[in-house]
Amino acid sequence: MEPSSRIPGFYDLSAEERLSVVKAFAGLADEEARALAGSDGLNLARAGQMIENVIGTFALPLGVATNFTINGRDYLVPMAVEEPSVVAGASFAARLARQGGGFRATSDPPLMIGQIQILGVADPWSARFRLLAERERILAMANRQDPVLTGLGGGARDVEVRVFETSPVGPMLVVHLLYDVRDAMGANAVNTAAEALAPLLEEISGGRVTLRILSNLADRRLARAHCRVPVAALAHEGFAGERVAQGIVEAWALAAVDPYRAATHNKGIMNGIDAVVIATGNDWRAIEAGAHAYAARTGRYTSLSHWSLSDDGYLVGTLELPMAVGMVGGATRVHPAARAALKLLGVGSARELAEVLAAVGLAQNLAALRALAAEGIQRGHMALHARQVAMAAGATGELVARIAEQMVREGKVRSDRAEELLREMRGV
Ligand code: NAD
Repeated sequence: MEPSSRIPGFYDLSAEERLSVVKAFAGLADEEARALAGSDGLNLARAGQMIENVIGTFALPLGVATNFTINGRDYLVPMAVEEPSVVAGASFAARLARQGGGFRATSDPPLMIGQIQILGVADPWSARFRLLAERERILAMANRQDPVLTGLGGGARDVEVRVFETSPVGPMLVVHLLYDVRDAMGANAVNTAAEALAPLLEEISGGRVTLRILSNLADRRLARAHCRVPVAALAHEGFAGERVAQGIVEAWALAAVDPYRAATHNKGIMNGIDAVVIATGNDWRAIEAGAHAYAARTGRYTSLSHWSLSDDGYLVGTLELPMAVGMVGGATRVHPAARAALKLLGVGSARELAEVLAAVGLAQNLAALRALAAEGIQRGHMALHARQVAMAAGATGELVARIAEQMVREGKVRSDRAEELLREMRGV
């Protein structure tokens, strides 16, 4: 039987106890557990091979979200994030979704887009025609660049040609190379293929190739998630489930129509997604760029998710966004903790990872909307924020909680008050 991600009391365990639960769940080796714990993670020598001018490494808290069921399988989800409430929120929402059968998720094949810009073409429409007529030759040339990828069944799939009749530098052609990158994020593979096509595209078009680079608007590589929560499960502190569910749909509606709200709403979705993207060593700037560009694809920036109420008593949520993540390449195999985090997730492909990420994004969105609808985000958030303010003021040990509680009670969560309380409590 598969182990369950529903682990009552996980929250109350010590970090060491949690790690041993996680280790048993995923069958991690000692060194993988140590990599997650940070005691045997990224060392200076390895870091120095990853980027330039290294002087150290930078740690973030690594938490594990529980309760996730996605496509009938249970996952423990590693999340690297500095913001309080994200891991708790994801776990809480996953528990709600579990009551409706968990998340369902799907993903497109891992198709990335390489862009090749061509300038100086006399008749762009004729050049477009010639380029498309030579589709097979272009694909064959692209497929000679990465024998590993083509050997794995990946490689160039299609060619599209877009014409911009006017631009600040005159008429412009943009060739899109659609490229299946299998289990990689694919930036390097696509950039290499796009680079290699330049001479051939110049020959066919008669123009001058300028940029050849990956697009982060990976809209051929979407992941989507779906969940349904029994409305009764949303009841909270005297509020009926129907009222909370209605509040969630109303809160979502503002994000659907107003970019000012949509930006924050989508940020909440990305709170969850980025944390897993970072924990697995993936490129979160790429994911952020893709998500927000996709949210604005109609010309008006809007919510990435949808929420509605079904006739049979469920709150129903869906989320769709580009998900260019890999489980090979980049830092995924180089960073020991990222490697161990991927093992903990137990995903067998980049597509499965993308599906988990979509589910986590939807869960995070549900957690934030529910908090907004049911209790007002301030109360839950303030308690954790107050702890950070207390720590920043120099509180340690049990004083952190005492000062935080006092500040929340007084409604004065401020550094000056934290310092004052610290002096009082220390008796100085
Ligand atoms: P990569 O080049 O490190 O690894 C991918 C390669 O691994 C493939 O080309 C293939 O040759 C090989 N491979 C082995 N097994 C594979 C499998 N099962 N599936 C697929 N490929 C397999 O990494 P990448 O994914 O091409 O690029 C990701 C990196 O590029 C990230 O670190 C990212 O930050 C960076 N990057 C991003 C951008 C951008 O987002 N605009 C631009 C440039 C670089």
